[in-house]
Amino acid sequence: MCNESEEGSDHVLVDCTYARSVLEGVSRWCNTQLVPLHTVKDVVDSISQWGVCKKRRKIILAIYYGTLWSIWKSRNEKVFKKNRLPPDKVTDIIKSVVYLWVKNREKIDRLNWASWSQCPLFF
Ligand SMILES: [Zn+2]
Repeated sequence: MCNESEEGSDHVLVDCTYARSVLEGVSRWCNTQLVPLHTVKDVVDSISQWGVCKKRRKIILAIYYGTLWSIWKSRNEKVFKKNRLPPDKVTDIIKSVVYLWVKNREKIDRLNWASWSQCPLFF
């Protein structure tokens, strides 16, 4: 995405300046401090530091997986369609993807999206 490094999975999904911008947007959305992440393994390992609440962990997993998935899709959009999405747009896509994943996997329909992302139970 940045044309400054070889496109390995760790670079494209986590370490690229583009991926970092997306991750920073996600971090702001979740109102969390972003710990230094350089590899996909760092991302997976960081999930274990998010407490023991099963429901919270599932949502955090969905956010991280949705983030990696969306960065990968935006990379493909650039490579195959020559369309570079701004990182903020990717962050918006992640919010939609995660909402749909969680909504369809968990019964949290009683919570509306605006309050869901600010609920102290989750973030
Ligand atoms: Zn890059």
